[in-house]
Amino acid sequence: MQLLPLEAGGRRLTSPIIMAGPCSAETPDRLFDTASALSQVGVGILRAGIWKPRTSPGCFEGVGEPALVWMRQAKELTGMLTAVEVATPRHVEAALSAGTDILWIGARTSGNPFAVQEIADEMVRLGATDVPVFVKNPLNPDLGLWIGALQRLENSGIRRLAAIHRGFSIYGESIYRNEPLWRIPLELRRRLPDLPIICDPSHIGGKRQLIEPIAQKAMDIGFDGLIIESHCEPDNAWSDAAQQITPDTLSEILGRLRYRDTPVAPDGIEELRKQIDSIDAELLDVLARRMEVSRQIGEYKRAHSMPVVQPGRYSDIVASRVKDAERLGMNPEFMRSLLSAIHEESVRQQLENGE
Ligand code: PEP
Ligand code: MN
Repeated sequence: MQLLPLEAGGRRLTSPIIMAGPCSAETPDRLFDTASALSQVGVGILRAGIWKPRTSPGCFEGVGEPALVWMRQAKELTGMLTAVEVATPRHVEAALSAGTDILWIGARTSGNPFAVQEIADEMVRLGATDVPVFVKNPLNPDLGLWIGALQRLENSGIRRLAAIHRGFSIYGESIYRNEPLWRIPLELRRRLPDLPIICDPSHIGGKRQLIEPIAQKAMDIGFDGLIIESHCEPDNAWSDAAQQITPDTLSEILGRLRYRDTPVAPDGIEELRKQIDSIDAELLDVLARRMEVSRQIGEYKRAHSMPVVQPGRYSDIVASRVKDAERLGMNPEFMRSLLSAIHEESVRQQLENGE
């Protein structure tokens, strides 16, 4: 991917890129109060939703175009750059003609290739391919779709691109509003090492107290910035009230975060340990998913009166995984004992769940 450095409104965006602002621009006064306070604590980019993609009709769906004028006024007032979400060519045209500096594509749009293409085509039509576009991950955990959206923009000549990691919808209970599934943005980083990745702890966490630990994890991994929802009166916000924080709270969080801006760690061990922690977290996550599938197999076996342990299948698994492990430079004995421990736990879960 041929990317250009992130520049907006004639300014180079350097790491960590910090964007903050309300979920939605609600009234001029609220927006100006929030923007002034954010700018006073050093935030350089004001985000706000103008058209809100809500789950149910009847919820507040954003003020629409009049709010773009308030964004321009907030920019004049504070000198901040502005960023809004666009989902249609009409949004692109309205946002750009109101002088918006950065566009972002939301999670409900980035997974729709037709919509992304229409946005790209409109930017080309308006001669605006120099405007940066930040692409949120699609709702579903599909890295190919996320990369596809970025490629679609790049193919149209939009080269000032960044990705926003905002978590993924999964079925089931979680402390998160949207599961972070860190392995997906990590794989994105591996595949597109030059693409800046910005973390959105507000939409991942869905609640105030999760913002700081998620933001810290993103900084620890080496993400390039944060987009955080901030509102002058969070409790009275018209959308996403539970996850918005005041500019003062944001400032405290930003002051406490440890930023990793040293390209080569002076003490390499610390960096390596963090990687191990994060890989172990992924390993646990993968194991938990394997156990979940295993429990489903257990149910199937019970329904079909099949015994839990199927020796033929287990031998095949061991043979193939041991071979793969050797190819990857691991000891076959280690792989056999790991598989035996996993198998034992999987059998235990199948038996226990049947009782
Ligand atoms: C937002 O940033 O306000 C938003 C709607 O986010 P997402 O597309 O990540 O749900
Ligand atoms: Mn929101």
